[in-house]
Amino acid sequence: MENVIILGTGCAGLTAAIYTARANLEPLVIEGGQPGGQLTTTSEVENFPGFPQGVDGFMLMQQVREQATRFGTRYTNDLIESVNFSGDVKVLKSSSQTYEAKSVIIATGASPRLLGVPGEQEMFGGKGVTTCATCDGAFYRDMDVVVVGGGDSACEEALFLTRFCSKVTLIHRRDELRASKIMAERTLEHEKIELLWDSAIESVLAGDDGKCRGVQTKNLKTGQTSELTCKGVFIAIGHIPNTGFLEGHLPLDDLGYIIPESNSMVRTRIPGVYTAGDCADHVYRQAITAAGMGCQAAIETERWLAEH
Ligand code: NAP
Repeated sequence: MENVIILGTGCAGLTAAIYTARANLEPLVIEGGQPGGQLTTTSEVENFPGFPQGVDGFMLMQQVREQATRFGTRYTNDLIESVNFSGDVKVLKSSSQTYEAKSVIIATGASPRLLGVPGEQEMFGGKGVTTCATCDGAFYRDMDVVVVGGGDSACEEALFLTRFCSKVTLIHRRDELRASKIMAERTLEHEKIELLWDSAIESVLAGDDGKCRGVQTKNLKTGQTSELTCKGVFIAIGHIPNTGFLEGHLPLDDLGYIIPESNSMVRTRIPGVYTAGDCADHVYRQAITAAGMGCQAAIETERWLAEH
């Protein structure tokens, strides 16, 4: 039986791994579907303390992983589908494996939210619809693209895409960006970025080759619809917590975020089960706050194991 199993390898999970490994707990980290978490799909991270010139998100996560490995963290690649937290031994099951642990830290993060409009699924991936400019931006060199959303992610994606694309249209459902002031200003001032305010994408339109040829948009104030020609649609409208496998086992809110106990950000209703990062935080959602929660969860785990 493991001392502690950590679910997730984003900032939260790997920080928890560093701390529990340094406490000689030999944590087993289950990597899940997106090793390294959301930062691996980010370009430049400018607000992580200690990097005055910014740091590439993928590189940062590689370094954090190296740090966790150095102290004895073990990794396995698997996807947990169900849990049983009813006894002293916590049981986690994937399609092929059963894991047992004295304690668990859930840091499964969140996945990109999609629009749910016609054409989106059909053209997802190589045919024009994507949620990752860092991964796919270079495929759209000298082409017109759209980005959907008004938060920091949408602005970051739009700004990143200006390196490759001839024109970037940012489609936002309101007439004001949600993004931080600095990101909003950079976006609004960029000569390659055009804003389409108060608008939603109604469908993604396919060309004869089955690839995206444009989007149908609707002005939410006037109701007027129009077509916009573009080869790529980059969706950046927030995230959904990866907690489906916990339903019925831990309290989740309406959006699926784990609800921690009232006296702590990382304690769950089940003794010995802790949480950290974007699967439990819909307020701050920063790399540094996820890392902080990972640290808290690890310290809680260490103390709980010492007491029991
Ligand atoms: P977010 O802040 O929740 O913004 C999501 C955006 O998508 C909002 O503008 C929202 O519109 C829009 N939206 C949501 N559902 C929609 C739908 N169904 N159709 C159309 N638009 C929709 O998410 P985020 O931008 O991914 O940022 C998440 C967190 O990460 C934030 O705390 C952010 O500060 C942080 N972050 C930071 C950085 C950075 O500092 N460099 C970079 C990326 C992310 P409304 O505005 O109308 O709600």
